[in-house]
Amino acid sequence: MNTFIHYHTLDLRIHDSPSLHKSHQPNNKSTHFLPIYIFDSRQLDLSEFSNTPKTPAPNSTENISNQIDDVKFEPNQTRCSPKSRLGNFHRTSPFRLKFLIEAIYSLKESYKQSGGNMLIAYGLPEKIIPKLIKHLQNKDGKIEGLFAQREYTLEEISNYRRISSIIEKQNLGIKLEFNDSKTFIEPKELPFNPIEDTPDIYTEFRKKVEGLGIGLDEMIKQPLKTSEFDNDKIRVKIGNEQLKPFPELNEINLNEGEGGFLTSESMDEVYQKLVKPLLDNPPIGGWSSTSIPKDTIPKLHPESAIPFEGSEMSALKRVDDYIGISREDRWEGGHKAKHYKETRNGLLGEGFSTKFSVWLSLGSVSPKEIGWRVGGLLEKEGRDKEVWKNVYWILFELLWRDYFQYTVLKTSLANTSSKTKEELHPNSSLFNPDGFSSQISTYPKDLRPNPAEWHQANLNNKDDPARRWCEGRTGVPFIDANMRELIQTGWMSNRGRQNVASFLTKDLYCDWRIGAEFFEMHLVDYDTCSNWGNWQYQAGVGNDPRSSRQFNPIKQANDYDENNEFVKIWIPELKDLPKEYIQTPWLFNDQSKFQGYPFKPIIELSSWKKHYPNQPSTRNRYGKNGKNKAKFNGKGPKNGNKKQNESI
Ligand SMILES: Cc1cc2nc3c(=O)[nH]c(=O)nc-3n(C[C@H](O)[C@H](O)[C@H](O)COP(=O)(O)OP(=O)(O)OC[C@H]3O[C@@H](n4cnc5c(N)ncnc54)[C@H](O)[C@@H]3O)c2cc1C
Repeated sequence: MNTFIHYHTLDLRIHDSPSLHKSHQPNNKSTHFLPIYIFDSRQLDLSEFSNTPKTPAPNSTENISNQIDDVKFEPNQTRCSPKSRLGNFHRTSPFRLKFLIEAIYSLKESYKQSGGNMLIAYGLPEKIIPKLIKHLQNKDGKIEGLFAQREYTLEEISNYRRISSIIEKQNLGIKLEFNDSKTFIEPKELPFNPIEDTPDIYTEFRKKVEGLGIGLDEMIKQPLKTSEFDNDKIRVKIGNEQLKPFPELNEINLNEGEGGFLTSESMDEVYQKLVKPLLDNPPIGGWSSTSIPKDTIPKLHPESAIPFEGSEMSALKRVDDYIGISREDRWEGGHKAKHYKETRNGLLGEGFSTKFSVWLSLGSVSPKEIGWRVGGLLEKEGRDKEVWKNVYWILFELLWRDYFQYTVLKTSLANTSSKTKEELHPNSSLFNPDGFSSQISTYPKDLRPNPAEWHQANLNNKDDPARRWCEGRTGVPFIDANMRELIQTGWMSNRGRQNVASFLTKDLYCDWRIGAEFFEMHLVDYDTCSNWGNWQYQAGVGNDPRSSRQFNPIKQANDYDENNEFVKIWIPELKDLPKEYIQTPWLFNDQSKFQGYPFKPIIELSSWKKHYPNQPSTRNRYGKNGKNKAKFNGKGPKNGNKKQNESI
């Protein structure tokens, strides 16, 4: 028996899988394929499982760079915890748990449908993986390969380091190797080398990458063909090859506190154990107004903009629906993509933007697959200028995602003595108060905010501005509606995210990291680089060439929620107000009409006033007729995003 092991982390899919591809090539000597997923005790509270390691504390007062230096990736030490550092928030919510568990169990099912299986474990990966290797070797077997997806972020790299270090110490004769399957443009395809030459400004990055040439053989590369799907099932298929069998395993004994294997537990049973610590100790703002069940995967809110499952199949169906698919000389679907740029700033419903992020974050969909489909639609219908502009913009946004990944990689490499990705010391400025701006210079120091002046949250005080922001109680309806949507569904639109982040950091002048941590807890699509990178950008400490970018929530509400539909859904207390006061209730003289909602906003800026009701300059972004509804209706304004240009 000669086994190829793939350690799944944030790549929960079988399509476009480099490990499946590699292990099924004719020259590959493996006879068996063993995929494994491990619930890591540093990211989830595993206290309801037996034989689990002690839950690590958040170390909230320690300086991050010291922590890294102290740890030096020693296998027995840990530097992260299922609680966040500043706010002591859980690092997942029941909704994110739902998507994660669905992604894992549907992946296991896909392997089973293909004649294989997937091992699911919990605990300490650096203990479990070496034990698994030894177990296979003791059965007179060999390990042909041990692979995982390459990651660029602190905890993920620390995890890989700990595993590699134990494997080396125990002389197991194998090395953990990495696939580049995370980004749309792979590192080796980048038109600049070394990676430290990644431009400091997005536009320059985009132009260089676009210089590769937009086309199916140029910037857009074909994903690896490792699966096929029909009748709602997805199976491994690589050319004529079927999936290699899963090796027979006896019991693998782990020592005390190292974790265990999940063999007979159902998806619901695993959910019950993982959700209990969250429900026993709800965060500020609670979880959701509709109660979260403790024994079955939660149902989504009826107004959820992401009415999907976390599975790979559900991701691919969304790609089929949004971008479409080529079937026998015909392009099927793609209507939504053809209106993407015009509608992407919407607030309500599933149609307004792709929602691919909920699957990209767990790797249940490959960015290359998305790019390839976009390329197919452009090739088919891109001669129409309007179609081109709309469809191409999906790639423009996917490149933002890559850009944050590569900026993290660049800033990490700048801090490391070894200059290779393999040896990466992940000491990026991603989590530092003064962010990337401490390492890369997009604007002068005197224009940046001063972290020493930021308000530090006291979340025990219910009047603390950061706490009111978290709970959707600032008294500014457009901000509160977005925050409540986040809490109740695990989702917030990009427009909403920019507004609430600007409000917390530029209006309330709070430390941006509290916002980033709160988002990390709630966002179903949480991605380390995109979340912390975007927060820095909004806070003026990232790689935005304009550090002073500040959103006006009243103008934004007039522009994007002109009929108040969005605010009325999430703040029902306001629905009986005359419509012109719904975005500014404090201007209405009868407070009995909105009992339960703050009578006064936490802050009022003079710049808001010209956008108040009945002001001569109050204007709707989309012209007098207000043709554009926030809800996707298949048609958008002609000049929707003019002012947006290169901004996120
Ligand atoms: C404060 C803040 C925090 C954010 N946190 C996250 C996060 O944790 N995870 C996350 O995926 N995105 C994050 N974003 C970026 C963006 O809001 C989401 O990617 C987007 O809203 C997801 O919806 P969608 O898939 O429908 O996007 P679409 O508009 O359909 O875009 C297509 C894809 O492009 C990528 N993309 C789009 N905008 C951005 C962006 N600004 N930065 C990076 N990638 C982008 C995403 O992968 C997205 O799925 C954050 C933005 C802000 C302002």
